[in-house]
Amino acid sequence: MKECAYYKKLKENKVQCQLCPRYCVINEGKRGNCCIRENKDGKLYLVVYGKPCAVHIDPIEKKPLYYFLPGSYSYSIGTAGCNLHCLFCQNWEISQIKPEELPSVDLPPKKAVKEAIKNNCESISYTYTEPLISYEYVLDICKEAHKRSIRNVIVSNGYINEEPLKELIKYLDAANIDLKSFDANFYRELTGASLEPVLKTLKILAKSNVHLEITTLIIPGYNDDIERIEEMCKWIKDELGDIPLHLSRVFPYYRMKDISVTPLGTLQKAKKIAEKYLTRVNLGNV
Ligand code: SF4
Repeated sequence: MKECAYYKKLKENKVQCQLCPRYCVINEGKRGNCCIRENKDGKLYLVVYGKPCAVHIDPIEKKPLYYFLPGSYSYSIGTAGCNLHCLFCQNWEISQIKPEELPSVDLPPKKAVKEAIKNNCESISYTYTEPLISYEYVLDICKEAHKRSIRNVIVSNGYINEEPLKELIKYLDAANIDLKSFDANFYRELTGASLEPVLKTLKILAKSNVHLEITTLIIPGYNDDIERIEEMCKWIKDELGDIPLHLSRVFPYYRMKDISVTPLGTLQKAKKIAEKYLTRVNLGNV
C-alpha cells in the first residue's frame, strides 16, 4: 500500500480523492469507485502498489502504438481495477474486479525497470486495465525508468484530472488514449463516465511532448454512425492535429454479449471517412 498523492481529508475521517473526475468521497474503511483506492484511518491508500495482476512482454504495436519505437518490445504491466465501467469492456476479467480476487505478482518499481532491461524492452507500458488509477505506482516506475533510459507508455481511458496528469506527463513518452465515442450520451450510458474530461486530457497531451495515438473501438449499432465518426475525426484534426487513429473491431464481451463483431465493411467505411482528415488511420483486431 502507498498513500495517495491527490486527495483531501474531510470531517469524520472521510476523504475525497482528487485523482479523476469522479472525485469520490470515501468513508473510513471503504474504497473509491475504481476499487483500488482505500480510506484507512482517514488517509487514502493505493492498495495495488507494486502488485500488478498482468505482466507480459509485448510488441509495442500491440498497445497499439504504430509510430513510436516501431519493432521494439514493451514491458507491459497492468493492475486490477478501472474508473470506467464500460458494458463492452474487452478486459473485464481484470478491470471490473476487486484486486483480492485476482492473483498478482510482487513487482516494486526498481524491479520492474530491471526486468524491462533484462528482457530487452525499450519501454514500459502501463496497460491492460486503467493505469491512471494506479497513479502512485505508475509514477514511481516512470521515474525509475527514465533514470535508466527506458521510455514510458500509457494505454488509458484518459479519465484523469489536469493536475496529476501534468505531473505524470513530465515522465511520459507516449500514450494511446481511448476515445470511445464522440457522443456524450454514449459515454454516460455505456461507460458510466463523461466525454468532456477525456477530450481535455487529449488536448493536454497533444500540446505536450508526449507521442499521442488514439483508439476507437467501433461497436455496431452504438458508435458506428458515419456522421459522428466524421465529426470526431474533424475534431481530432482541428483540436489535436494529425494524430494516428486506430479503428478497432469489438468482440461481444462482458455485459454486451448480444452485439455482433464489427463487420470489416463498417471499419473500412469509417477508415475512408477518417482519412478525409487524418493521414495515419489503421484498423485494429482484424
Ligand atoms: S481514482 Fe478512483 S477513488 Fe479516485 S476519484 Fe477516481 S474512481 Fe474515485
